Amino acid sequence: MSTDFIQCIYEELIGFYGPQGWWPGDSPFEVMMGAILTQNTSWTNVEKALENLSSYMEPQVIYMMDMDKLRKLIRPSGFYNIKARRIKAFLEWFKGYNFCVNELGKMDITTLRGELLGISGIGNETADSILLYALDMPIFVIDAYTRRMFSRLGVPIPKEYEDVQKLFHTAIEKNTAIYNEYHALIVRHSKECCRKKPACNGCFLKNICDFYIHA
Ligand code: SF4
Repeated sequence: MSTDFIQCIYEELIGFYGPQGWWPGDSPFEVMMGAILTQNTSWTNVEKALENLSSYMEPQVIYMMDMDKLRKLIRPSGFYNIKARRIKAFLEWFKGYNFCVNELGKMDITTLRGELLGISGIGNETADSILLYALDMPIFVIDAYTRRMFSRLGVPIPKEYEDVQKLFHTAIEKNTAIYNEYHALIVRHSKECCRKKPACNGCFLKNICDFYIHA
């Protein structure tokens, strides 16, 4: 039941909002930087940090950059000490592939995911955002919005990240474009409607939503 329902919600969301055109970024490397910088902050703050980095947006350049300078440039994204260390750790790993996005694209997704998760500060959501949005690999990104929205809709959401991901992989055909779009739509709906305090009365999903029906 859950799998059909998850498919149905995709159809509803895409029909209502249309394509979201994610992920914002001029290059795969910029998307990778955005995926690291967006941890625990809003996208507006990430945009300011990316703007500061824009004239340096090459992996070799940021790899060589002095830590103090990097910290200063990414300061608007918050947690800039930790994030500067994460970026440097990511680039240390990326250097092993000559900073070449195409080299990463040739890798098996499971191997690559495992390597990304081995980098200090790169967790499941960041790794999968890099795989899906920077490298066009078919993997579903799970975040707090996904958990909250689908729990409210009435889908039993497992505790472990991989189990939630498996639920979506089972429900939705393996398709990078759909995985890309679906996650973006979940974020859109969660920000506009299914917020921390949900705006159910104006929600087009309310008639099929467990939370609303049983409120
Ligand atoms: S009806 Fe309310 S709880 Fe359900 S999806 Fe819409 S906003 Fe979220």
